[in-house]
Amino acid sequence: MDIPVYSLVAYLVAAVLFIIGLMRMSTPKTARGGNVLAATGMLIAIVITLLLKEVLNYTMILVGIAIGGIIGGVAARTVKMTAMPQMVGIYNGFGGGGSLLIAAAEFFRYANLTEGFTVQNSITIVITILIGCVTFSGSMIAFGKLQGLVKSRPVTYPMQNIWNLVIFIAILAMMIYLIVSPGNVPVFIALIAVSLVLGVLLVIPIGGADMPVVISLLNSYSGLAGCAAGFVLGNMFLIISGALVGAAGFILTRIMCKAMNRSLGNVMFGAFGAVVQTTGTAGEEGEKVVREATPEDVTTLLGYAKSVIFVPGYGMATSQAQHHVAELATLLEQRGTDVKYAIHPVAGRMPGHMNVLLAEANVPYDKLYDLDDINADFERTDVAVVIGANDVTNPSARNMTDSPLYGMPILNVDKAKSVVVIKRSLSPGFAGVDNPLFYMEKTMMFFRDGKQAIIEILDEIKNL
Ligand code: NAP
Repeated sequence: MDIPVYSLVAYLVAAVLFIIGLMRMSTPKTARGGNVLAATGMLIAIVITLLLKEVLNYTMILVGIAIGGIIGGVAARTVKMTAMPQMVGIYNGFGGGGSLLIAAAEFFRYANLTEGFTVQNSITIVITILIGCVTFSGSMIAFGKLQGLVKSRPVTYPMQNIWNLVIFIAILAMMIYLIVSPGNVPVFIALIAVSLVLGVLLVIPIGGADMPVVISLLNSYSGLAGCAAGFVLGNMFLIISGALVGAAGFILTRIMCKAMNRSLGNVMFGAFGAVVQTTGTAGEEGEKVVREATPEDVTTLLGYAKSVIFVPGYGMATSQAQHHVAELATLLEQRGTDVKYAIHPVAGRMPGHMNVLLAEANVPYDKLYDLDDINADFERTDVAVVIGANDVTNPSARNMTDSPLYGMPILNVDKAKSVVVIKRSLSPGFAGVDNPLFYMEKTMMFFRDGKQAIIEILDEIKNL
C-alpha cells in the first residue's frame, strides 16, 4: 500500500503519543492523563487511516464504528470492576479475531491476483493466522472460565503436552507448505481450524484463578497478532502499536508470575488448582486453636491503636467492602490513629485490583504502600487488619519448601503487635493451603462477610 508522507508523519505522532501515554500510566496520579494521550493517538491514527485512498466503503466503516462504539460504551459503563478480567479477555479475543480476518482477507485477495503471493506476504499471513487464531479461541475459553460458562478447574488428560506439541508441529508443517506453495485454500482453512483448536487446548488445562495471568499473556499475543497484521498490510502504525501491546502484555505477565513466585511454564502447563482443595472450620482444628473475635473485641483493639495497617485481598473485592473500609479508616484517623494500606502486587485476582477498588472509594494514593515500602512497618504497628486476604499474608511462604506459596514475597502481617483477620471461615485462598497466621496467639479471627464485618465495627466505633 502506498502511504502518503503526511500519513506517515501523523502515524509517527500517534505512536509517540502512545509511548508517552504508556509511560504516564505507570503511576495512578498521571494514569488518567496517559489514557487520554494514548486515546488521542488512536483517534489520530484512525482519522488518518480513513483518509487513505484505499478506503473503499465509508458506509461500512461508519456502521462498524457505531456498533463497536455502542457496545464498548455500554460495557464500560455497566460491567462491574470484578468482571474486568473477563472483559479484557473477550476484547483480546476480538483483537486476535480481527487480525485473523485481516490476514484471511489478504490471503484471498492475493489468491485472486495474477501476480499472487510473495514469500514475504505468505510468511506474514500464516504467522498472523496462527497468532490470531490462538489468541481468539484461547481468549474465548479464558472468558468462559472467568464468567463461569466453562469449567473453571484445569482440564487435564494423559500426554496433554505431547498432544499439543504434535498439533503445533502439524501447524508448522501447514505454514511451511503455504509459504512454499501459496494459495492452497483447503490447507489454509485447515491451518485456521487446527490453530483455533490449539488455542482451546492451551487454555483448558489452566485453572480459573490463573486466568488473569493467561489473559495478560493473551493480551500480549493480541498485540503480536496486530503487529503481524501490520506487516501484512504494510501499516507502520499497526506494527508499532501492536509491538507496544505485545511488549507491555508480556512485561505485565512476567511481573504477575514473579509476584506469585511461579514460572510462566508452571502457570501454562502446571495445571495449578487441579488438586482438591481443603477447607477448614472455625474453632479447633486438630491441635490448632483460633481466637474468634466479636465486633466489640475488634472495635476495642482498633479504638486504642495508635497505628493500623489495612491489608485488603480478594475477599474485600467480592464483598465490595472498600467504601466501608475507607469510612472506617477516616474515622480512625479522626481519632488520631495513623492509618496505612498495604498492597500486595497479586492481592485479588487482577493486577492493580486493590488499587482500583480503593481509588473507587477515594482513598488517597499516598496512603497505599507497596509490599517493599511497608513490610518493615508491620513490627512497629499496633494492629494489622486483614480483610479478605489470605495467601498474600501466609508466613509459610517464607520457609515451608513444600508449600505452593514457597518463595512468594508476602506482607509481614504476622510481625504486627496484633492481627485481626476478617473472612467468613478458615477456608484457604487461591493456592488452597492453610494459613498459620490464623492460629497465632496475636491473631483474632472475625468470621464474617467482609462488608458486613466492617459495618458492624463502624456501628460499634461510633459509640466508643
Ligand atoms: P486469596 O488467598 O485468594 O484469599 C481470599 C480469601 O478471601 C479467602 O480465603 C476467602 O476466605 C476470603 N473471602 C472470599 N469471599 C469473602 C467475603 N465475601 N468476605 C470476606 N472474605 C472473603 O486472596 P489474596 O490474599 O488476595 O491472594 C490472591 C491470590 O490470587 C494469590 O494466591 C495470587 O497469587 C492469586 N492470583 C492473583 C492474581 C492477581 O493478578 N492479583 C492473578 C492470579 C492469581 P473465606 O472463604 O473463608 O471467606
